[in-house]
Amino acid sequence: AKYVYDFAEGNKDLKDLLGGKGANLAEMTRLGLPVPPGFTLTTEACRAYLATGTEPAGLRDEVSAHLDALERRMGKRLGHGCDPLLVSVRSGARFSMPGMMDTVLNIGLSDTSVTALAAQAGDERFAWDSYRRLIQMFGKTVLGIDGDRFEHALEEARHAAGATSDVDLDAERLRALVATYKRLVREATGRDFPQDPRTQLDLAVRAVFASWNGDRARLYRRQERIPDDLGTAVSVCAMVFGNLGPDSGTGVAFTRDPATGHQGVYGDYLPNAQGEDVVAGIRNTVPLADLERLDPASYHGLLRIMETLENHYRDLCDIEFTIERGTLWMLQTRVGKRTAAAAFRIATQLLDQGLIDEPEALRRVTGPQLAQLMFPRFDTTAVDAGTSVLGTGIAASPGAAVGAAVFDAATAVERAARGEDVILVRRETNPDDLDGMLAARGILTSRGGKTSHAAVVARGMGKTCVCGAEGLQVDTAGRRFTTADGQVIEEGEILSVDGAGGTVYRGRVPVVPSAVVDYFEHGTGTGDDDLVRAVDRIMRYADRVRRLGVRANADTAEDAARARRFGAEGIGLCRTEHMFLGERRALVERLILAETDAEREAALRELLPLQRGDFSDLFAAMDGQPVTVRLLDPPLHEFLPDLTDLSVRVATGDDPHDRALLPAVRRLHEQNPMLGLRGVRLGLVVPGLFAMQVRAIAEAAADRRAVGGNPHAEIMIPLVGTVRELEIVRDEAEAAIDEVARRRGVALSLSLGTMIELPRAALTAGHIAECADFFSFGTNDLTQTVWGFSRDDVEAGFFSAYLEKGIFGVSPFETIDRDGVGTLVRTAARAGRATRPDLQLGVCGEHGGDPESVHFFDEVGLDYVSCSPFRIPVARLEAGRAAT
Ligand code: ADP
Ligand code: MG
Ligand code: MG
Repeated sequence: AKYVYDFAEGNKDLKDLLGGKGANLAEMTRLGLPVPPGFTLTTEACRAYLATGTEPAGLRDEVSAHLDALERRMGKRLGHGCDPLLVSVRSGARFSMPGMMDTVLNIGLSDTSVTALAAQAGDERFAWDSYRRLIQMFGKTVLGIDGDRFEHALEEARHAAGATSDVDLDAERLRALVATYKRLVREATGRDFPQDPRTQLDLAVRAVFASWNGDRARLYRRQERIPDDLGTAVSVCAMVFGNLGPDSGTGVAFTRDPATGHQGVYGDYLPNAQGEDVVAGIRNTVPLADLERLDPASYHGLLRIMETLENHYRDLCDIEFTIERGTLWMLQTRVGKRTAAAAFRIATQLLDQGLIDEPEALRRVTGPQLAQLMFPRFDTTAVDAGTSVLGTGIAASPGAAVGAAVFDAATAVERAARGEDVILVRRETNPDDLDGMLAARGILTSRGGKTSHAAVVARGMGKTCVCGAEGLQVDTAGRRFTTADGQVIEEGEILSVDGAGGTVYRGRVPVVPSAVVDYFEHGTGTGDDDLVRAVDRIMRYADRVRRLGVRANADTAEDAARARRFGAEGIGLCRTEHMFLGERRALVERLILAETDAEREAALRELLPLQRGDFSDLFAAMDGQPVTVRLLDPPLHEFLPDLTDLSVRVATGDDPHDRALLPAVRRLHEQNPMLGLRGVRLGLVVPGLFAMQVRAIAEAAADRRAVGGNPHAEIMIPLVGTVRELEIVRDEAEAAIDEVARRRGVALSLSLGTMIELPRAALTAGHIAECADFFSFGTNDLTQTVWGFSRDDVEAGFFSAYLEKGIFGVSPFETIDRDGVGTLVRTAARAGRATRPDLQLGVCGEHGGDPESVHFFDEVGLDYVSCSPFRIPVARLEAGRAAT
């Protein structure tokens, strides 16, 4: 195998082999941009090294050959005692990963070559500064010495010199610091800092390879579902020096503003500095625009290069560059990260510029980005005297929450019950905090990542959450927390928590509603005009190309109307249980408690007109579009009081109503209601219940017809496991429909179908299809029954442990489990269509609004997805992306 590629040999499409950094360095070299020469050791070399614990045969020779070529080209030898070449050793995997080894700069410096470098550059200070940087970086990342020990020594040197910054340390002090550093290395490792340049190089390369298997890197890969066997590439690059005086420097730049997407000059520059100094925040950088004054030639050169890169990558690029005594060098580029708003703006700008076409513009934005734009956000321009930043953490669940700080669940519940908005602040949460999390507007924790309990549960609840704000010291017992800069926040103080950005503010930051929601609601957006225009343009295209229909899960006419404004093409799931609550509960009780047929029929007769009214409103709101009505699904005991509560009431009080209810509640009590008397089983056991609901649907349809409406009802039977259940219900339903049609003298074409939400239904879908006009996959229950766990119990329970161990990359309730649940969906869809080619297929679980799942449903050929009204735009966008 060929293990080493010169920068001139690779290109940007070789990321698997050369890593992102190596591939883009090669691409820039190919474009003729000023990249210091170098070469890249491939990921294959890394994999071979990791498999055997030693460099694969031939690697050493290949490196020698490339090093020779580099030395010839530069006219210098690595670490030579007279005219040394220095290199950097840079890690770079396919995906950038925190926890991997950093870069080591200035490889090749030693006690002898440092003097030569000083002579070469005519600058002693520079040479010693470079040497101390090498020992520091090498000591920390290659030799594994605690970095604080070097920082501490540096700090002391600054202190002794009365200097505020490294640049104020002169050559003499830096030389002394190098001696200290070398002593540190000897103390920590029992060996001297290696003086041989090739040894330095080889050790650094090995350390980069080995860092692939570091604990943090592995954990990160598990969570992000990055395969463990990719390996990292290593780039070796001739050093250029930004620390050679005031006409040198180093900087980062973006070809557009990654925050807004607007065009302009964005970046930071730091004169007389090397490598990470810019981002490390040790010294104050200047805005990139200032470079025009400091070094106009380099500045204009940089602008030209940025334009070249944008046109070439056809996207926002971010860049690392260095200026060495007036000469500009490019050290890195990649397609840059951006905010959601910037993604939409940039995609449409590039479309306007003719750099990309519509399908590409659609691919450049994502459903999660659109979802972010639909949350209200904080007006950060209004962060003033009354508000200040307390810290930042991980943006775990979006939204902008404002409320009083509370430190335990009970207080959260208590204050919320009094109508107060609260933010639950915990070190980390656990299942005992659930009530408090539900009651709070937002959740803030100081520990844990985006798979922590707080993050997982908050996302499930759609609640704003910032987790892992490590700068905050939470003192639960003392009901206060302390920030990194010593501010103390007591219980009751107002906090503003930004779940999209991860920032926590003291005080009340004003919340601005989303212009994008306004646009979906009213067809126009107020404020943020160019963002709304960008969203509109991309949504139109997505709607044009998508194959999947998008419906809403909606139970009321109000929800239906809103869903329609958001672009829903019908209702995929109307749950009728909500129509049995409130004042109607008494009727349901009578139905359940009926001891004779006559009593039961009387209760059903009273429910009928109420249901009819509900459906009629719904059909009106969705006129001309399909409305899928699911017959009653939940266990009956959900309409009755809790057994324990009721038993206590009966034992301590003397309410005759309570006493009458108790036997029924006892009779209906189930150990495992999720797997008990519910769904179609109810319809088969409670005579007349489903017939009443079907009659109400048919009559409502007839009523709408009579006033010139165009109702499209689809009747859906839940929790079917065998075709036999469906046959019985279907006969009963058809009789009811025929009866209404005859009585009202109208032809009613209502379709009748079933949910597929039990493994047995999926496995026998071919038979079930004989009796169904449509299937709707109920992927929530299907996930529960395929995995054998109940969502309510596990999501707040052990899921975060599963996520942290990497057993799931993401909750199977959030994104469909393709391999397990997905296989059943695919099988059932195929079997159903084999029986009935015109069988309509949809999905009404919450997965219908999840971006990744939408792609899966498109792939298996469903006709539509159905999701909550708020997720409809996301589903439309992703359905479009799935089709391009
Ligand atoms: P990261 O992936 O952390 O950005 P890099 O390999 O890009 O790591 O290097 C870290 C810093 O060192 C960057 O600022 C980069 O520009 C700088 N750097 C890397 N190689 C060289 C070099 N050959 N000459 C000068 N600076 C370099
Ligand atoms: Mg970099
Ligand atoms: Mg269900």
